[in-house]
Amino acid sequence: MSNSKTTNIIIAEDLQVKNMTKNHCLAKSIHDAGWSRFLSYLEYKAKKHGKRFIQVPPNNTSQLCICGADVPKDLSVRVHICPKCGYIDNRDIVSAKVIESRGLQLLSAP
Ligand SMILES: [Zn+2]
Repeated sequence: MSNSKTTNIIIAEDLQVKNMTKNHCLAKSIHDAGWSRFLSYLEYKAKKHGKRFIQVPPNNTSQLCICGADVPKDLSVRVHICPKCGYIDNRDIVSAKVIESRGLQLLSAP
């Protein structure tokens, strides 16, 4: 999830919670987080305050660099290191930037 630079747009991954809960390792934490309810509430609040809320396809957001390079890593790898552009950061921060970029591209598409 990413709060764009303009702060008028909230961009989140369109995660398929039903599919994610098929993974028993992830299921409990996803249910505990009430992720679907959180997103519904976020959308409601965004619209109430005149902000845009959009969701983007979630595919590979954790496996891409902001330069567009594929940087495969499993869940145990917490630091993103891009062999193409040299960018190093926390993997979740990089994913948020990829999601933001994807959302802004979606909004600027004709
Ligand atoms: Zn890169």
